[in-house]
Amino acid sequence: MVSRVIPVEQFDLVIFGGTGDLARRKILPGLFRRFRAGQMPEGSRVIAAARSEMDDADYRKQMMAAIKEFGGSETKDTESLEAFVQSLHYVAVDARGDGGWSELAQLMRDGVIRAFYFSVGPGLFGDLAERLHQHAIADRDSRIVVEKPFGRDLQSAKALNATLAQHFREDQIYRIDHYLGKETVQNLMAVRFGNALFEPLWNSHYVDHIQITVAETVGVGGRGGYYDKSGAMRDMVQNHLMQLLCLIAMEAPNQFEADAVRDEKLKVIRALQPVDFHHIVRGQYEPGSGGPSYREDVENPRSHTESFVALKAHIANMRWAGVPFYLRTGKRMKGRVSEIAVVFKDIGHSIFEGDEARHRNILAIRLQPNEGMDLQVTIKEPGPGGMRLVDVPLDMTFADALGDEQEVPDAYERLIMDVIRGNQTLFMRGDEVEAAWAWTDPIIEAWEARNDVPKHYDQGTAGPEDAMMLMHRDGRRWREIKG
Ligand code: NAD
Repeated sequence: MVSRVIPVEQFDLVIFGGTGDLARRKILPGLFRRFRAGQMPEGSRVIAAARSEMDDADYRKQMMAAIKEFGGSETKDTESLEAFVQSLHYVAVDARGDGGWSELAQLMRDGVIRAFYFSVGPGLFGDLAERLHQHAIADRDSRIVVEKPFGRDLQSAKALNATLAQHFREDQIYRIDHYLGKETVQNLMAVRFGNALFEPLWNSHYVDHIQITVAETVGVGGRGGYYDKSGAMRDMVQNHLMQLLCLIAMEAPNQFEADAVRDEKLKVIRALQPVDFHHIVRGQYEPGSGGPSYREDVENPRSHTESFVALKAHIANMRWAGVPFYLRTGKRMKGRVSEIAVVFKDIGHSIFEGDEARHRNILAIRLQPNEGMDLQVTIKEPGPGGMRLVDVPLDMTFADALGDEQEVPDAYERLIMDVIRGNQTLFMRGDEVEAAWAWTDPIIEAWEARNDVPKHYDQGTAGPEDAMMLMHRDGRRWREIKG
């Protein structure tokens, strides 16, 4: 039976930073697609609030162009696009001053859901929270949405949480990690907890190890200044990879409900053992066909910031005792891949004469490209001449399996609609974020204390040689990153 889509109530969504890169590339195009899908109730409004002076007409024109650029094929429906931009409004607001706040207050309406998207740097979160309160713009049911980076260490994350907590309850705060909005990530939970097949095998008795890879082909792009102060550990591992690790490793929540799910994720983070320094590899990309070196990209010839991390983690609990979790992420790599692979143990004894290969079932959950899953199984190679075994994937690419009519919403669209619905399941709770920093902080501090120099790797590869060795030493290997 197909479960129904929960309807959305009429809302006013205020986007602070509504002229910024994130708003133009993700938030507005995402909202347009939900509008087209009939999920934006009549009368709902998007109110952009940012520094530049402009009126509604200017803003609509700008966003029309941005949505056309980033919104995909649906933007060919110009009639819908025209109708959508009529729901956009603009107020010039200074987060740090008084300008624009009474205009914004006057625009707000009673009786509709109020959501405030903080699509600005975290340095402004406190100012925005304070002003929303001072001008009585946010009410008890209002939601706020905040973006990464959520702190740069435990101390700053705690300070940010404390700042927000002065004016908002935890159930009003939606910390976005867009990885959690991916269809596949939710499917991971459906597959694990909705099938009899996998859960009995999901433990140290049957799982040899788990690999999580998030490889990008791009470099630091225009974000060099920010990235060089951050690095792959802060930018990717502490949030995205950690969230994926939690979902793959957590116990079944008693129901699919926000706090039940987040309680289980938190237990995983708290059970993570400190990482042994021999089990971490940092890397930095060198020049190559793809472009200049990392150091040239960030215009810092002496930078020791990592654009790549690989590590082996252990979760100290009964389910996962002894099972390594290998995590890696990097920029300017051979291919663009995000996947989690659960590698099951081999069967131990082969009854097939001459079959010396170690056949392993692998459940690979792909976030990109082609969201989907495949399960590697061992079968007989077709044809005469005896029993020769081959490993083949049972491929389930969602777009193929579900057909084109099942339009898969982008992560941002889904998450924004969850904010309006008041569903926090796919958002990080404050204590989760803090626990994740508590695990990554000692690693980063040790690098900084000894001025650790990252290993260099050629662009277009799978990262430094040492990352291969991390697996080889354990008699295992990374899954191939396809170019
Ligand atoms: P941006 O620099 O492109 O835009 C910043 C926006 O904030 C602009 O609209 C600007 O007018 C507004 N702003 C700045 N100072 C202001 C002030 N004093 N008062 C009112 N408005 C002010 O930034 P962005 O790339 O859109 O990123 C926004 C946030 O989202 C950041 O925290 C960033 O780290 C995070 N983020 C961005 C991306 C992305 O893909 N761009 C991805 C993940 C997270």
